[in-house]
Amino acid sequence: MEYEHVRDVDPAVADALAGEVERQRDTLAMIASENHASRAVLEAQGSVFTNKYAEGYPGARYYAGCEYADEIESLAIERAKDLWGAEHVNVQPHSGTQANMGVYLAVLEPGDRILSLELEHGGHLSHGHPANFAGKLFDVEHYRVDPETGYVDYEGLAETADEFDPDMIVSGFSAYPREVEWERVQAVADAVDAYHMADMAHITGLVASGVHDSPVGVADFVTGSTHKTIRAGRGGIILTSEEHASDVDSAVFPGAQGGPLMHNIAGKAVGFREALQPEFDEYARQVVENAKALGEAFVDHGLSLVSGGTDTHLVLVDLRDSHPDLTGGDAEESLESTGIVLNANTVPGETRSAFNPSGIRAGTAALTARGFDAEATREVGDLICRVVDAPDDESVLDDVSARVDDLCSEFTLYE
Ligand SMILES: *Cc1c(COP(=O)(O)O)cnc(C)c1O
Repeated sequence: MEYEHVRDVDPAVADALAGEVERQRDTLAMIASENHASRAVLEAQGSVFTNKYAEGYPGARYYAGCEYADEIESLAIERAKDLWGAEHVNVQPHSGTQANMGVYLAVLEPGDRILSLELEHGGHLSHGHPANFAGKLFDVEHYRVDPETGYVDYEGLAETADEFDPDMIVSGFSAYPREVEWERVQAVADAVDAYHMADMAHITGLVASGVHDSPVGVADFVTGSTHKTIRAGRGGIILTSEEHASDVDSAVFPGAQGGPLMHNIAGKAVGFREALQPEFDEYARQVVENAKALGEAFVDHGLSLVSGGTDTHLVLVDLRDSHPDLTGGDAEESLESTGIVLNANTVPGETRSAFNPSGIRAGTAALTARGFDAEATREVGDLICRVVDAPDDESVLDDVSARVDDLCSEFTLYE
């Protein structure tokens, strides 16, 4: 990762690139939506395909010279079909949000009604937040998690659906540590004659390896990101049935996007191939085992977890019970000073602002990619607890920092 050509023309950017490589090597990436793609994926993403226009789809392009673009996109599609068992796949969305936009534009009209999980309860901006296009274009209502259990309130969802009569129900979340019961959401969608879009953005990799139940074949549309629990580089995908194939394809292009980012699609193809290997199933299983170990370290230390634990790659800590004077933002800042990088997050029933909320969210996908096992992850959990207990104590922060350095040298990255 020398970036010598960048250095020749642009030392400032070269310095920032080198700095970011070092930052990723020397810190523990625990932001639940992040991961470390392989060198192979990075190489494909940073390739000459960034030069190529390929509007259209394989075999039906609006530009000449698409022979290899067709090959790459077809490989990405076939591998995605294998990974998730979908009838039809679109690999062109530039991001998870773009994938959701593609689905909305495929079957909804402006003003139609969308029912989704409230952002503070673990939803996503693209599910209809007023600041997002989805909130501006559509009439949006929310369902919630049960404040006692932290699990999705499926009965409340059914009641709200009855009253609101949505055209589409969105499931799949950003900060939800439990398995989503896709069939229960589908039953509600059937009852009110709404489409069901399952946004598996965070858990695409877990679903691909069978560690989490699959929404494919249950929901009408499944969207995902390709850079969270699957390590295929930044981007989005849509999986659907033959029935909706052409609506989805024309909603993505020309509906929502111009030319596909062929270099990102090359990265997706390589990442999907990696995910089809047996070692990836082992990886996904370890991601969840590590998240459970992290959650146990927190609970043993007296921290409260939303829903009491996890079935996935992430845990969500509600600091209000154990550390009423510590905000998520302050915890995030102290932890970052030791090299543990995670994010402050809202919790169900949030009483602070979204900018400095009451929780922290931590994921294990990136640690597992660099080889962490349950024991090492549990140790990171203990380190986090030490910082949360004494966020301003320099000697504690120095100690934890030193131990983070050791762990980063033991579990190497991009060597
Ligand atoms: C991360 C995420 C997305 C996609 O985000 P992008 O940043 O647009 O790729 C979509 N939905 C959910 C639920 C997410 O967590």
